[in-house]
Amino acid sequence: MRNGNAERLAARIETMRADLVALTQDLIRIPTLNPPGENYRDICDYLDRRLTASGFATQLLRAEGTPGDSTRYPRWNIVARREGRMPGQCVHFNSHTDVVETGKGWTVDPFGGVVKDGRVYGRGACDMKGGLAASIIAAEAFIAENPDFAGAIEISGTADEETGGYGGVAWLAEKGYFSPERVQHVIIPEPLNKDRVCLGHRGVWWAEIETKGRIAHGSMPFLGDCAVRHMGAVMRAMEDDLFPKLAAKSTSMPVVPDGARNSTMNINSLHGGQAEPEADYTGFPSACVPDSARMVVDRRYLIEENAEEVRGEIVDLLEGLKAGRKDFDYALKELWQVSPTMTERDAPVVVAVADAIETVLKRPPVYVVSPGTYDQKHIDRIGKLKNCIAYGPGILDLAHQPDEYVGIDDMVESATIMAVALGDLLAGGAASAKVGK
Ligand SMILES: [Zn+2]
Repeated sequence: MRNGNAERLAARIETMRADLVALTQDLIRIPTLNPPGENYRDICDYLDRRLTASGFATQLLRAEGTPGDSTRYPRWNIVARREGRMPGQCVHFNSHTDVVETGKGWTVDPFGGVVKDGRVYGRGACDMKGGLAASIIAAEAFIAENPDFAGAIEISGTADEETGGYGGVAWLAEKGYFSPERVQHVIIPEPLNKDRVCLGHRGVWWAEIETKGRIAHGSMPFLGDCAVRHMGAVMRAMEDDLFPKLAAKSTSMPVVPDGARNSTMNINSLHGGQAEPEADYTGFPSACVPDSARMVVDRRYLIEENAEEVRGEIVDLLEGLKAGRKDFDYALKELWQVSPTMTERDAPVVVAVADAIETVLKRPPVYVVSPGTYDQKHIDRIGKLKNCIAYGPGILDLAHQPDEYVGIDDMVESATIMAVALGDLLAGGAASAKVGK
């Protein structure tokens, strides 16, 4: 029965292949660049027309007052819901509609939706308009094959994931759109590859470290105190002690790629002394001892760690320098923090998608955790919903790159997997399917 349904869904989606490609092209052709957050209303209107025609009740929601929201760049989101014939559980597909800047190096029009060699090219093709299109086709195919389904299907297109998700999923979660009473299962079609179930992500801790000095004439540095040299001492301590310590910490999280299976820290930026002159400034700098140097660090942490420990490591390093180095003084400002999250492997949405991968691709799924965060953080923390994964077509490494693309066969296969998993979840079958095997 279940395999029969999978075969019917696969056949139905095969007939929708051209529609899936056209839908992906249409979405790519709406340039939803973020920042600043362009054309959010246009893409919501497009999705509104499509999903209304498929029997969904839609809501267009502006996240007024969130970071970046303005009259010129309003943060529009769409939430579409299709009720089944009978009450039951709700499966929600959430995709972000924003894309990052194109950058240099493209050989095709980044907003042309070019189809070539079995791929659709464009900014956002894999991250994540291909995934959004696949989830829409999956839902439409499922409804066509199972018009009397129980429960509800939701599809959302949300703003600002690339800049933190505060005008998108975070805002919707705060308004109750991801509350466990309304939504029971969430699939985020980010490009994690068609055979992988992404359970969650590592944690994030961003901070700015400032070392302090005293200004003086550059010809007599001994009369001042050089903040950049103090920052040099911070970097030396990081190289000698902190980086080796982070590299030695490993996790039970199946993070990909392998290098992200340890704690990591990036130095995002470093500024000391005079501000960089404008590019067209032709004069010399003045002779001054810098009285301030600032560094921004991006620390990614593991589920075995917590934000207090992460902060404590940096404080210990700075306090050690303060105790041992003449005139060393610092300030530490925490900028952003996201806790790590990892959905349990026996959660219904994990089991259903894993089973669907096995049914459709005839091989077991790979369980992964993302090195960076995505909107699951808001669904977990604000929505209090733990039954959430990322699953979608596309190769993660292509995200944000020039000549980004999504494979058409990959989209077809992952749409089939989404439709099969949808059927399983709405039938309340994730657990029973396990027993039946
Ligand atoms: Zn994305």
